Amino acid sequence: MVLADLGRKITSALRSLSNATIINEEVLNAMLKEVCTALLEADVNIKLVKQLRENVKSAIDLEEMASGLNKRKMIQHAVFKELVKLVDPGVKAWTPTKGKQNVIMFVGLQGSGKTTTCSKLAYYYQRKGWKTCLICADTFRAGAFDQLKQNATKARIPFYGSYTEMDPVIIASEGVEKFKNENFEIIIVDTSGRHKQEDSLFEEMLQVSNAIQPDNIVYVMDASIGQACEAQAKAFKDKVDVASVIVTKLDGHAKGGGALSAVAATKSPIIFIGTGEHIDDFEPFKTQPFISKLLGMGDIEGLIDKVNELKLDDNEALIEKLKHGQFTLRDMYEQFQNIMKMGPFSQILGMIPGFGTDFMSKGNEQESMARLKKLMTIMDSMNDQELDSTDGAKVFSKQPGRIQRVARGSGGDMSKNVSQSQMAKLNQQMAKMMDPRVLHHMGGMAGLQSMMRQFQQGAAGNMKGMMGFNNM
Ligand code: GDP
Ligand code: MG
Repeated sequence: MVLADLGRKITSALRSLSNATIINEEVLNAMLKEVCTALLEADVNIKLVKQLRENVKSAIDLEEMASGLNKRKMIQHAVFKELVKLVDPGVKAWTPTKGKQNVIMFVGLQGSGKTTTCSKLAYYYQRKGWKTCLICADTFRAGAFDQLKQNATKARIPFYGSYTEMDPVIIASEGVEKFKNENFEIIIVDTSGRHKQEDSLFEEMLQVSNAIQPDNIVYVMDASIGQACEAQAKAFKDKVDVASVIVTKLDGHAKGGGALSAVAATKSPIIFIGTGEHIDDFEPFKTQPFISKLLGMGDIEGLIDKVNELKLDDNEALIEKLKHGQFTLRDMYEQFQNIMKMGPFSQILGMIPGFGTDFMSKGNEQESMARLKKLMTIMDSMNDQELDSTDGAKVFSKQPGRIQRVARGSGGDMSKNVSQSQMAKLNQQMAKMMDPRVLHHMGGMAGLQSMMRQFQQGAAGNMKGMMGFNNM
């Protein structure tokens, strides 16, 4: 089961509280049962699920609580808090120091995603302005150096490795020394894996580690093994001084809930998660924003980070607005225009409150893009008051007449007014405007054209979905 499904199911359970006329023991139990079933289906350990249920129940005293809205909010809050606890290892994670030479060594089983993740991490820091490089100390697997070299070259990251030297300790030491002399700030060392935990692997890890004295050892864990992550993380922690964990392959059908909660249970701080094969499919892991995003409640902190990366002129004003929760539909419209420059849509959209679960699912970038364009068309039919309200959803729910007006304005068949050649020109322009990586995500020029066709088929159908904002 994918994580997006889990988010959807829990959100739906929590919404059931808003639909109930009175909140009593029965309603609470039914909601908790739904939440727990969803967690079990996502492979979360039954003991942890039971604990969550008990904690919520003991935090809620229905007799004592005032009635109505307050009760619902408090219950929803208690569930949210417990979900955060489930993935929170309760340990502060290591972070690199700017201006210092931070050596980061990667360890993990073969195929867990070490080499891919090394490149993702290097790319992440490089984009944030750190002087970053990669070293390949994997002499076990044929083609390992070529793989790292290819990733590094594509992302323009300096790298070090050897086709002839067979001793990983020598390569690692030489590389680290070279890059330290050149004042690199983030020095990432990729190492060999084995198919299973073996003495020879641990022996090699220790030798490399002793030689280069890393500031941080990152253990890379494949999420597809689910709850078995707990035993594996423990085994690695016992052998080497693992300071952080990166959980990979949380896309697709990974048993995501099982992996994340299992690793957290070993008190190992998860610093990033991998959500795909592409260098961009990588997100910092922070417990609260993660749960918030999962439940479609947005990740304002992450959004601010992304906006900062864009270095827009009107950054300051927007960030102030975000901080104060004054994000209007107009701001959103403007941000949609910028999103094209930011990278994978699913990642960005998941950060905007109200979008999490529906847009987070991967592999349908094209569909997300089409929906985004539909929303923009809808917004084109809105007036200033609607666009600039800090509570867009309420403006519409209080005066439903507005919905009809906007839907009429945006629902037309665009193809009637636009000729084929005009349409082709528009497609060309959009392709030019877009970051090539984003275009690639959308299936290239052909994908863009198919999206534009969907766009032409009108927008009114999405009106209802959009009004679901901030319903929690
Ligand atoms: P290593 O042996 O530990 O260095 O693992 P690799 O980096 O070579 O990765 C093994 C395979 O897993 C490759 O096919 C990667 O593309 C794939 N992979 C790595 N991370 C992810 C991820 O987050 N999601 C998915 N879907 N695949 C991944
Ligand atoms: Mg590798």
